[in-house]
Amino acid sequence: MRCCSRRKMQQVYRETVKDKHAIRGKCGVCGSNMFKFSGSACKNRPKGWYDARKREKRNRLAREKLLENTPKIVACFQSDEPQ
Ligand SMILES: [Zn+2]
Repeated sequence: MRCCSRRKMQQVYRETVKDKHAIRGKCGVCGSNMFKFSGSACKNRPKGWYDARKREKRNRLAREKLLENTPKIVACFQSDEPQ
């Protein structure tokens, strides 16, 4: 049975799967296979791509934090035209 908890990998080796770096290994306790993606292997991104992504994420988090404390407004429109 798998122990399904976070443990150190044994017999670790790296490989590349679908343009991503991955780590494959075995659990030291139960011996089941472990697998983890560890980042993109694609290194030919345009200049500033990583910085732009970081900035975008930071902006999104800031926006969400700002909206968190804002009460939701419910708008209702009424028409004057006769039905
Ligand atoms: Zn295990």
